Amino acid sequence: MLYREMGKTGEQVSILGFGCMRLPTIGMYRVDRNKAASILDYALDKGVNYLDTAYPYHGTSNSEGGDSEVFLGEYLQKKGCREEIYLSTKLPSWLVKERKDMDQFLEEQLKRLRTDYIDFYLLHSVKKNNWNTLEDLGVLEFLDSAMSEGRIRYIGFSSHDDNELFKNVLDSYLWDMCLIQYNYLDEEIQAGHDGLESAAKRGTGVAVMEPLKGGVLANHIPPEVREIWDKAPVHRTAPEWAFRFLWNHPQISTVLSGMNTMRQVVENVFTAEDGQPFSLTREETRIMEEVKKVYYEKILVECSSCGYCMPCPNGVNIPQCLSYLNQAAMLNDASNVKTQYHFMLKDTEKASRCAECGICEELCTQKLPIRDKLKMAREKFGR
Ligand code: SF4
Ligand code: SF4
Repeated sequence: MLYREMGKTGEQVSILGFGCMRLPTIGMYRVDRNKAASILDYALDKGVNYLDTAYPYHGTSNSEGGDSEVFLGEYLQKKGCREEIYLSTKLPSWLVKERKDMDQFLEEQLKRLRTDYIDFYLLHSVKKNNWNTLEDLGVLEFLDSAMSEGRIRYIGFSSHDDNELFKNVLDSYLWDMCLIQYNYLDEEIQAGHDGLESAAKRGTGVAVMEPLKGGVLANHIPPEVREIWDKAPVHRTAPEWAFRFLWNHPQISTVLSGMNTMRQVVENVFTAEDGQPFSLTREETRIMEEVKKVYYEKILVECSSCGYCMPCPNGVNIPQCLSYLNQAAMLNDASNVKTQYHFMLKDTEKASRCAECGICEELCTQKLPIRDKLKMAREKFGR
């Protein structure tokens, strides 16, 4: 495993971090303890030392604590390795209504995680519509006092909002780190490359989420893209190209991957062994540009599967519907995708249940015209 400094903190974090929002489950929300523990065991044995979770991960909605923190607390206590890893979790900023909520959430999270301190505590999903309120409620003072009391060691924020908001937040405080969405298709959206550079110039460590764009860059690869990868002078899997693109950037300290199978962990750990900055050759960079071009021409909806638009009051599984729409758009033969759509989704989760209320569009981190895209899904896949 390779390690990089998390910005000016100087902490040596593994370049591959374990994102705990997609751990294997029993049913929809309960973490499968045995499977999750075995893939975490493997990752930790191979040197992964950064674990990222958040209050709502593996919860039934964004407004309640999910199972991810609870599982991690049990896991770390049982394994007795709390001191050896960097633990990151996040304040659910959208649930904060007053100053005392901040302390209450942190206390609850410490209990759930069975620890006295969080290494990297982030404001989760800072947005234009909550940043000013959080500041007015005293969030920066809360972070200072929690740090001076030793309940948190370092402070950061995550955001899916645009570059303007990202830089505004970045300038508002001496952040130790930030968490941004970044991958080879997202250099110009959200914080983007400009945001990455700005953070690095300030000495703010950068952790990256959505390295595979919600799986789009790993699954259902379009034949045109497959052909480009196959012709490349060096053989790599699609996820390997995506991770290598990220680790090529010296500004990135760690890349979080929401791994949920042993195969993914083994493959990503293997790739991380060689994730040096400035390691892509000119020819490899050209190949990636070619792939980007193909994708840009095909993707219909830039959905990252982040789930912030959920739950839909009518039960539509929005990210899944959009994912099937993208898969159909990227493949020459969409009949398989149609079959899968009807096989995998309950009738209540399909695009045809959309009542066009627009609530999801208000919440969408990518500002997507979800209603229009669901109409397209309905036309493509039927009811
Ligand atoms: S617009 Fe459709 S998908 Fe979005 S929240 Fe309303 S009913 Fe659900
Ligand atoms: S539609 Fe928007 S909010 Fe919902 S999962 Fe996709 S990107 Fe995230």
